[in-house]
Amino acid sequence: MAKLNWLKADLHVHTVLSPCAELEMGPKNVVAAALEQNLDILGITDHNAWANVAAVAELAYTEGIAVIPGIEVQTREEVHILCYFPNLDQLALAGEQIYARLPPIGNKPDIFGDQIIVDAKENIIGYEETMLLNSVDLSLEEVRDLTYNYGGIIIPAHVDRPAFSLIANLGFVPPNLQPAALEISSRLDEITAVKEFPILKEHTLITSSDAHRLDDFNTLRSTFFYVAAPTLAELALACAGRKNRKVVIAPQDTVF
Ligand SMILES: [Zn+2]
Ligand SMILES: [Zn+2]
Repeated sequence: MAKLNWLKADLHVHTVLSPCAELEMGPKNVVAAALEQNLDILGITDHNAWANVAAVAELAYTEGIAVIPGIEVQTREEVHILCYFPNLDQLALAGEQIYARLPPIGNKPDIFGDQIIVDAKENIIGYEETMLLNSVDLSLEEVRDLTYNYGGIIIPAHVDRPAFSLIANLGFVPPNLQPAALEISSRLDEITAVKEFPILKEHTLITSSDAHRLDDFNTLRSTFFYVAAPTLAELALACAGRKNRKVVIAPQDTVF
């Protein structure tokens, strides 16, 4: 039987590719912040794009941190949904199709900030010119299907927030959506979250930093997975509560 361990995760982190993220969110600083927080698993999830995931993954690997390849999609309903994939190839295949559905509107760097693509050594290898902070022309269900087609899972982001969230925009979790979990802000513990939003009771919850700057990594609570390995397949089992895997939200300095 596989040996199970508690692994600390932050599955929602932006890089300099996201126009709203600070310039300090390059791979070196992101990985250093993840080390400081004793993270075992890092999810890199830029808005509607994924070009910096490989750079962070390469660097994180050398520090013993696993990167789960991801993307934070803004759907046609203006809902933010985190899509995670088993590897970079699957992310790129799905990501191409998501990115292709962005409206053809250019970024205005002086207003929104640059959308910078880097390598693991933080050389700038390009600038994303399409404005990433827009809704793609895909419904929630279409994003779900696309993600599932490439072996991924979906986790609606920051569902307790008053904007760009499943609960704020739709008021409910569509029964056929079947998310692996729902993400709540780290200001909430699970009991308070369920009190505020009773609908959450039926779902597995995780929390993440949604870091856009380095200070954001320092959250009140973190997500801990009891799994055999830091892989997407294991995280999915934990979210489903299968094969003795589990996931809990606990104060960020919890040692199991
Ligand atoms: Zn978001
Ligand atoms: Zn985000």
